[in-house]
Amino acid sequence: MANIYKLSITKDAFVNKIVESAMKDLDEFFGIKWTYGRPNILLCKDRKTIVALTGQTGNSVIGWEWNRDIYVLDHANFEKESEHTYNAEKYARLLKHELVHAYTIATIKKQRKCKPDWLWEGLADYLSGYSRHRKQIGSFKNFLMFYENDSGKVYEESVFAVEILVEKFGKTKILNLLKQLSTCKGKAEFNKLFDKIYGFKPTYNNFNNLKK
Ligand SMILES: [Zn+2]
Repeated sequence: MANIYKLSITKDAFVNKIVESAMKDLDEFFGIKWTYGRPNILLCKDRKTIVALTGQTGNSVIGWEWNRDIYVLDHANFEKESEHTYNAEKYARLLKHELVHAYTIATIKKQRKCKPDWLWEGLADYLSGYSRHRKQIGSFKNFLMFYENDSGKVYEESVFAVEILVEKFGKTKILNLLKQLSTCKGKAEFNKLFDKIYGFKPTYNNFNNLKK
């Protein structure tokens, strides 16, 4: 049986305000002025729709990015259709997190051949302000595992690793790293590229020393 959806364009002043303000910030961070072909924001009415679109059952999925478009559970049905509590600030972070993925892809341009999920999710979390809302960590010990592997645990440490990269080394380096991902072919090449840009290897030891 085919999955069939009824799409129709709508106005939502609340979501619009969040998206415009997030994109203003992200335009500045990524150094682009996104005017044409901007991300579409698709509000999914209910859980059934999300399951059909993602193939993922359970009540946890509330947003994702696909082909530079953002899908999120409609704020009007948020608590009814998910396991998460709702507040406007959290919803804004969710939208911004997904928008960061769209900007990341726009920055890499070509299809990426290597995907360090910790960098991907860490950057999305960092730029959408999650570093103040994730549980603080003692030391880094698992984020590097998340390479082509985006289990839910990827969010635990990645935001703090990216926070170090941006706040201690500036945004130019991380943007350079992202741009060069388009030609990078796997984990070994990624580690080399990282070392070339930052002057150290991505290891727990190095990140723990920087955390002090
Ligand atoms: Zn994400």
